[in-house]
Amino acid sequence: MDNSISMGSDGILQVPQQPTIPFIIGDGIGPDIWRAAVRVFDHAIEKYYAGERKIIWKEVFAGEKAFQEKGEWLPQETLDDFRKYLVGIKGPLTTPTGGGIRSLNVALRKELDLYVCLRPTKWYTGVPSPMKHPEYVDMVIFRENTEDIYAGIEFAAGTKEADTLQDFLKTELDVKYGFSSSTGVGIKLVSKEKSQRLVHAAIEYALNNKLPSVTLVHKGNIMKYTEGAFKQWGFEVAETAFAEQTYTWGQWERTKAEKGQEAANAEQRAAEQAGKIVVKDMIADNFLQQILLAPRDFSVVATLNLNGDYISDALAAMVGGIGIAPGANINYQTGHAIFEATHGTAPRFADTDTMNPSSVILSGVMMLEYIGWTEAAKGIVDAVAETIKQRTVTVDFFNLMDDATLLKTSEFADHIIEKI
Ligand code: NAD
Repeated sequence: MDNSISMGSDGILQVPQQPTIPFIIGDGIGPDIWRAAVRVFDHAIEKYYAGERKIIWKEVFAGEKAFQEKGEWLPQETLDDFRKYLVGIKGPLTTPTGGGIRSLNVALRKELDLYVCLRPTKWYTGVPSPMKHPEYVDMVIFRENTEDIYAGIEFAAGTKEADTLQDFLKTELDVKYGFSSSTGVGIKLVSKEKSQRLVHAAIEYALNNKLPSVTLVHKGNIMKYTEGAFKQWGFEVAETAFAEQTYTWGQWERTKAEKGQEAANAEQRAAEQAGKIVVKDMIADNFLQQILLAPRDFSVVATLNLNGDYISDALAAMVGGIGIAPGANINYQTGHAIFEATHGTAPRFADTDTMNPSSVILSGVMMLEYIGWTEAAKGIVDAVAETIKQRTVTVDFFNLMDDATLLKTSEFADHIIEKI
């Protein structure tokens, strides 16, 4: 029997009742938090679907475990399994030092063209936060995952490649800049297709989840043809693919130029009243201020790779830090998706049974939502929220909370399971 999840011709995932889902246990604290998380998943699925639905977990190898057992950091079978089964989940992986693969996470994303890095950020009652009103923070970040300055096209100062590129810029493109042999060079790539598929996914998510706005975050004031183009292409995809369901600040600007600001404001108000999603934009530095000052103004956020990296960590810190931040890397066209905690391997704490498994548990919740098993997903979220609310927490939260009870990783999972 083939238990693979597949993508239907209608673009809807086909999920068998008992799908095989590959998982990477991860390095460092990975095994501790995975063991806790998988008990929570299995319990919730059993409780909500009474044996009718079940995940057949298939361990696949990457990272230190793969290197020790197979002499490779990222064996081909692992990639093949993620490709075949479509949906998978992973713990954190050590980034190998030395030559070869730069990062296993990046290699997985590239191989499956997982172009959306999805990071929901929301606060759970009781989680220690530096914000006065962390409950105002409820955002979902769509970070472009495949290009930008992160594409890895860069050359060290003093190399032949860096010198050649600088010569080319000077002589062929007439770029006037104080180039020197002590200048490193990196290339920033932003394409129309990749920007638009990202923004398309963000708008679709806002529509499916009945969210009020999508904010395009960029530095288009400085980098006009990359970041600025991202904004223009984003508005364009909203105005063409979602003309009936969205209103963009691009439209607002045009109406303002033609008929004045009052008419533009009236147009936007009418669109909001009609339930349209407002697609707005904001310069990244201002955005980082506004998420602190007015977090309720933002819901879905779509941005390029580097901005997205900074923004997701800033937002994670606002709602309690990396121990609780889930994530996913998704290709909405093929359906391929890998869910993962956003933190690293915290190697000092490996095998201590002390770290917070919430990030993996909530990544699993995202996975259950993605495959449409929403009852089990909700059951887990409610139980995690209740466990934290009762101040029964792992050491990261315990250190910052008054009157809390300290739990081990495995005990924290027990408390969640009791409440499902
Ligand atoms: P890290 O995220 O592993 O740890 C930083 C600190 O965050 C830890 O010392 C710990 O205090 C805290 N922390 C992390 N996870 C926690 C949890 N679940 N509960 C409570 N506290 C937690 O970052 P690092 O030390 O910079 O990186 C260690 C290794 O992880 C490196 O090899 C790095 O390349 C790799 N890494 C992997 C991923 C990934 O696989 N997605 C992401 C980031 C870093």
